[in-house]
Amino acid sequence: MECKTNRLTQATRWHLSLRKTPKSVFLHSYSSPAAAKAPVSTFLCSMPLMGRTPHVGVIGAGISGLRCADILIQNGVRVTIIEARDRIGGRVCQKEIEGHLVDLGPNWIHGTLDNPISKIGMLSNTTTHEWDGRQSIFDTSGNLYDEETATKVTDFVWTTLDEAFEHSNKFKDEIPADKSLLDFFKERVAQTSFTQAEKDACIESSKMWGSYVGDPIDRQSLKFFCLEECIDENNLFVASTYRNILKHISQAVVGRADIHLNEPVTGIEANPRKPGTDHRVTVTTATGQSYHFDEVVVTCPLGWLKRNKAAFSPALPPRMLSAIDSISYGRLEKVYVTFPRAFWHTQSRGTSFPDTDSGQANGTHEVFNEKDLPSGHPPAFVQFLNPRYVDHPEDISWNQESISLAALPNGCDHPTLLFYTYGPCATHLVSQITGLDPSSEKLYNILNEFVYPYYSRLPNYSASSPDCKPSAFLATQWQNDPYAGNGSYSNFQVGLEQGDKDIEVFRAGVGAERGVWFAGEHTAPFVDLGTTTGAYWSGERAAGQICDIYGLSKAGLGLNRDDSLPSAVALEVVKGTHTEVLTAAVAKE
Ligand SMILES: Cc1cc2nc3c(=O)[nH]c(=O)nc-3n(C[C@H](O)[C@H](O)[C@H](O)COP(=O)(O)OP(=O)(O)OC[C@H]3O[C@@H](n4cnc5c(N)ncnc54)[C@H](O)[C@@H]3O)c2cc1C
Repeated sequence: MECKTNRLTQATRWHLSLRKTPKSVFLHSYSSPAAAKAPVSTFLCSMPLMGRTPHVGVIGAGISGLRCADILIQNGVRVTIIEARDRIGGRVCQKEIEGHLVDLGPNWIHGTLDNPISKIGMLSNTTTHEWDGRQSIFDTSGNLYDEETATKVTDFVWTTLDEAFEHSNKFKDEIPADKSLLDFFKERVAQTSFTQAEKDACIESSKMWGSYVGDPIDRQSLKFFCLEECIDENNLFVASTYRNILKHISQAVVGRADIHLNEPVTGIEANPRKPGTDHRVTVTTATGQSYHFDEVVVTCPLGWLKRNKAAFSPALPPRMLSAIDSISYGRLEKVYVTFPRAFWHTQSRGTSFPDTDSGQANGTHEVFNEKDLPSGHPPAFVQFLNPRYVDHPEDISWNQESISLAALPNGCDHPTLLFYTYGPCATHLVSQITGLDPSSEKLYNILNEFVYPYYSRLPNYSASSPDCKPSAFLATQWQNDPYAGNGSYSNFQVGLEQGDKDIEVFRAGVGAERGVWFAGEHTAPFVDLGTTTGAYWSGERAAGQICDIYGLSKAGLGLNRDDSLPSAVALEVVKGTHTEVLTAAVAKE
C-alpha cells in the first residue's frame, strides 16, 4: 500500500493502546464468497480432475506468483512461470543510489499481527524500523508549525482516519458512492473548536493520505475506505530493504519451477471446460512462444489487465470486465535524494543504536524502535502542505512528504531523503523525466528543481555548503512501466458501487469454468489489498483453489485468512489483554 497505509502514526498510535482486533481470525476457507458461488462443485462432479496432477502456468514472478508456485510445487504440481521482465520480484525491486540500496517499490510491512511478510523478515535477517511518530509540518507559506500545532494536527488527522475506517465499515451500504474521504475530513473538522488556521492545516495535512493510496483523497471513496485498512499492530519500515524478503520467498521456487524470463504474455486462450475432453489453456508470448497448461494463474497487475482485456480469448465474462474497469489503480512514485552529508540530521544518536555490519543494507534481524532511543535529531517525517511558494499547475495538489533515511539504524542509515509523490503531481513529474538518461544533467536539474523548495527548508541548510547540494537522484517511473500496470497498486475511487464484490469476482476468476485463475495484490484479502502481504496471501489462495479442484493435499497452506477488517470490531472489547480481546471478539461471532 505505499506505501499503502498506516505508515507513520498508526505505528505510534497503535503502540500506545491495545487497539481493535480482527473480529474473527483465520476461521474461514480459502474460497471467497464469489468463488463459493462459482460452479466448482458442478465441475468437481463432472470433470475427471480429481486425482490428476496438473501442469500449471503462472504468469508473473512477483510475490503472488512466487508464493502461488511454491504452494503448488509443495503439492506435487508441475509449475512453469512466465515472466515479462529479465528479473523476478515484480514491484519488489531495489536499486543503488551512491552505493546505498533502496527500494523502488514497497518499503513498509503493514501490520505485524500474524503477518507472514514480517515473519519472513525475521527469518531473512531483515532489519526493520519503527518510527517514533514525530513529524515536522511546514505550512502553505513554507513556515514550520510549532510542535504543539503539529501534534494537534497530526492527532486530528489520525483520529479522523480511524473514525473514517469505522464509519466506512459500519455504513458501507448507506454511504453515497460519490462521497470522498476528503468530504468526511471536512465534516469532522467543522465539528471541532479549532481556529480557522488550524482547521485549514488539518485539511491540508489530511491530503497526505494521498501518498498512501496513490491518488488525492478527494478521489478516495469513503464507502470503500474500509478496504484501505491494514492488519493490526505495528507498521515497520524495512530499513535494510525488501531484498532478503524477496530472496527468501523466491528460493523456494527457483530451481523447482521452470522459469522463463523476458517472455511478455500477449494471449491467454481458454475455452470453457467440456466434460469428457482434455482441457487446455494456451498462453502465447511476445517472442512468439506458445505454452499449453491445464490451469493458468494470471498475476499481472490490475493496471495491466485494464489495458489488456483483449489478451483473453474468448473474452472474459462481463462481470469480470466490469470489475477490472471499476477498481482504480494508484500513482505513487518515489524520489530519493542523496547528499554528501545528512546536514538536517543535527545530532548523532549516541551509542544506543546497536552497530550492525556497517555499510551493508543487510542487517541483523532486529526491530528498532526509535521511540526507545535518544531522539537528538529532528523528526524523520516532514510534511510540506500545499506549497504556495512553489510554481506548479494550479489544478494539481502539490503536497509533499519526505522521510529521512539518515534516521535509520546504523548500517542502514544514509544521507538520503525519500520523497513520496502521488496522483496528478506524480504523473506531471514522470512526464518531465520520461526518456531521460538517469545520469544526465537534465534529469538532475528537473528533480532538483522539484525537491529544492523542500530540502532547502530543513534545519542547517546553507546554499553555500557543498553538503547541501544533492550528490545523486533516483526517481521511479512506475507509470511508464506496462508490467507494473502503469501505476503502483489498486485503490478505491469515488463512484465505485461494488468494490468488495469486484474483489471477490477477481478471486473467483474464471478458474472453475475455464482454468484461468487470478492472483495479485488486487485479489487479496480485504485487510491486505495493495500490499506485499496481500499479494503473498493471494498466491496461496489461487494455489489452494487449484489444489481443491484436483483434490490435492494443500500442503503449506496453513491457516486461512478471512476478510475481517480491524475496524469492524465493536469498540467495547478494546480493553483487556490481547488474549482477552481475541477471545471476546471470537465469542461475539
Ligand atoms: C511505489 C510503490 C510503493 C509501494 N509500497 C508498498 C509498501 O510500502 N508496502 C506494501 O506492502 N506494498 C507496497 N506496494 C505494493 C506492493 O509492491 C505490491 O502490492 C506487491 O508487490 C504486488 O505483488 P504482485 O505479485 O501482486 O504483483 P507484481 O509484483 O507486479 O508481480 C506481477 C508480475 O507479473 C509480471 N508481468 C506483468 N505483465 C506480464 C505479462 N504480460 N507477461 C508476463 N509477466 C507479466 C510483472 O513483470 C511482475 O513480475 C508498493 C508498490 C509501489 C509501486
